Amino acid sequence: METETPLTPIAPVISAQYAEIALKGKNRRVFLQRLKNNIGHALKGEPVTNINHVESRLLIRLADETRSADVVEKLRRVFGIQWMSCSTPVPRTGDPMADLGRVAETAARMARRDAGSARNFKIQTRRSDKSFPMSSPEISALIGDAVQPELDIPVKLGNPDFTAHVLVMAREILVFTEKIDCHGGLPVGSSGRVTVLLSGGIDSPVAAWMMMKRGCRPEFVHFYAGRSIEEADTGKIFKLAAILAGYAPRPLILHMVPAFPYEVRSIGTIDDAYDMVLFRRFMVKLSERFAMRENCLALVTGDSVGQVASQTLHNINAISPDVRMPVFRPLVGLNKIEITDISRMTGLFETSVEPYRDCCSIRSPKPVLNAKADTLLEMSETMNMADAIDEAARTSTRFKIGPDGPLER
Ligand code: ATP
Ligand code: MG
Repeated sequence: METETPLTPIAPVISAQYAEIALKGKNRRVFLQRLKNNIGHALKGEPVTNINHVESRLLIRLADETRSADVVEKLRRVFGIQWMSCSTPVPRTGDPMADLGRVAETAARMARRDAGSARNFKIQTRRSDKSFPMSSPEISALIGDAVQPELDIPVKLGNPDFTAHVLVMAREILVFTEKIDCHGGLPVGSSGRVTVLLSGGIDSPVAAWMMMKRGCRPEFVHFYAGRSIEEADTGKIFKLAAILAGYAPRPLILHMVPAFPYEVRSIGTIDDAYDMVLFRRFMVKLSERFAMRENCLALVTGDSVGQVASQTLHNINAISPDVRMPVFRPLVGLNKIEITDISRMTGLFETSVEPYRDCCSIRSPKPVLNAKADTLLEMSETMNMADAIDEAARTSTRFKIGPDGPLER
């Protein structure tokens, strides 16, 4: 039942606020440029007329208002933006009272559209241009007086049902009715590259997402069971990488590595109880090699202490004493429920729970709980792990993955 005056579907200026970047000192410009570029990439194909840094925020202007909702969805996947608003701009003319008159009209129209069943409201004003001749509370009172008869509900300053925001800038005044929460963090690429050991489970894709939120650009290494990618039915791994690529400005690299070279050398030569931890060692050592080759500065896994037998502190210690680069475990202190919440929120969960025969799930089910590094090093010699790593690296396949899937090899 739409009887209201038709309003432009959604406002044509999106104002993106960054939080953490504002705390940067000399490097702030670099981070901001990266954020601007990443926004540009995320909005490729959208009718963006310009993206400008104005008074501590990025203003994104759209030529076609009907694209606003989609643009907002895309921007929600750009790390570095803390919150944003879809605003209607009122240009400043040099006559403050006339400008505020038009702000009042705009605020009233937007409030009629958006207030819904609110029982009370307020106007919240901020002046980014402090030279404006009225204070923020004065402006709020003036606009509030104009909006109140339109809405016919009382003003309530503390915790109102509905708030219309007015932001006074040097050249225009923005009016908006919703603060849209985003993920914050730092723009992907601003912190360097990391190599993520990506399984088909719930945890490691979330670990990758969390490192991306810290500004890291991930490369993925996945180990599949058997001899060939097709045989292992790895569609799910490509889908997970594609979902994560949706949070990055450019396609991401995925190395698909056969577990087979490890399997042929370990079967019959090592104690079954050590199979799981040795295989973990194989994965970490090989990933380190890819990391060095591709200029990645750290490894990332989805380990959470004590979650499964291979993740006891003893085992985590013993698996890779000779890996020199840091191994980050962003989920280390989270429990499965917390990890699952992030997995759902990021859009990974549905794919993570698709059935998949992971090469870890077919390892011997009763691993040692307190492996010793020396024992693992000895066993690695016995089974000729170095050869297995060489062969697996040689027979691996490198893909580029965009949000819609693999692009090219
Ligand atoms: P996940 O949900 O991420 O699979 P998990 O709880 O199942 O984690 P493990 O199977 O012990 O735990 O794996 C621990 C970590 O080892 C994973 O988070 C991932 O980083 C890495 N890993 C496990 N399997 C693979 C694989 N097939 N390829 C690449 N990395 C893997
Ligand atoms: Mg797993």
